[in-house]
Amino acid sequence: MDARLCAAIMVAVAGVYLSYPFCAQKCTYCNFASGVARAEETSQYLRALAAELRAHQWQWTPETLYLGGGTPSTLPLDDLSELLSLVPSKPWREATIEAAPGTITAERASAWANAGITRVSLGVQSFVESEIRRTGRKHTALMVEREIATLRHCGLTNINVDLIAGLSGQTGDTWRESLDWVERLNPPHVSVYMLEIDSGSRLGNEVLLGGRRYGAADLPGGDQVADFYEMAVERLGSLGIHRYEISNFARPGFESRHNLKYWKLEPYAGFGADAHSFDGVTRRQNPESVREYLEGRPGESCAARIREERFFVGLRLTAGIQPHPEEWRLYQITIDRFLADGLLETDGASLRLTPRGVLLSNEVFQEFLSP
Ligand code: SF4
Repeated sequence: MDARLCAAIMVAVAGVYLSYPFCAQKCTYCNFASGVARAEETSQYLRALAAELRAHQWQWTPETLYLGGGTPSTLPLDDLSELLSLVPSKPWREATIEAAPGTITAERASAWANAGITRVSLGVQSFVESEIRRTGRKHTALMVEREIATLRHCGLTNINVDLIAGLSGQTGDTWRESLDWVERLNPPHVSVYMLEIDSGSRLGNEVLLGGRRYGAADLPGGDQVADFYEMAVERLGSLGIHRYEISNFARPGFESRHNLKYWKLEPYAGFGADAHSFDGVTRRQNPESVREYLEGRPGESCAARIREERFFVGLRLTAGIQPHPEEWRLYQITIDRFLADGLLETDGASLRLTPRGVLLSNEVFQEFLSP
């Protein structure tokens, strides 16, 4: 793709991601590059983030904005509005803030709306107290209920609720209880993630070491987690909240415009520690740690592998992808095998995962990656 075409794409549809990688506590399952906030470090970080935004050449029009990373809902309101004032083209078509339950007040919600925020993504993870406590979080279901009412009262009705399938102690009954709460609270968007066990989190480490801390000995098995996920697909579907991406469900019209850019390989620019950018040709990542970011270390860049990414990122979408003729030819053997195994399906033009393929999606994606 040449630079002019790339610039044209960015003018049309690009998004902005701002990273605030600080939280009140580190959740036991979290494998993100986030840490516990210390006053001096956060103010230094906010100055560096503002400087990065000021230095950017805004030769394009941001369509969406996403403020994530850790817990940006704890950002002091003056800092938040200053940061957002550095991103041109307000009002954006969609501007999301990630929020932890227990941090939402009417004052904050009104200030967010005034600063241009249009959507709030709530990291609930579970409505069941015993499960929540084992993650290290402190909220309750009633707190979430009150805070969603507060958001709605302040005009922030575009709300996402995050849930995790596979938490320690989770059973069919407790998972149903969380889904009952979703039905009662009726958010237009829900994300359902299956718990990842890897050495990047305290819980994952404990499991890998065969220990019992953080509820490591009470994790549901893989088949059970797959059942929980299927239960969610069915229940949310019956509520009119349909799956449009492996982990994301929405009422029609409430799909996340910003996150769709990641799966449709549309451009976005990321600011802050560990933020990623993609201009249609090149992928860039800022230094992962806050310390390295504050030291001004350079990030890393690499050429995007568009053809592969169209498959292993695009196939995450329920609508699937429309491969070009040469892509059908290139991947013919792999595609035919997955069609025969019932993991992919096609109408001749589109290619998408079947419901069974969704559960085995990592196996499918791997086959589209070159060694
Ligand atoms: S899961 Fe979210 S709130 Fe918890 S430590 Fe990680 S980034 Fe912070």
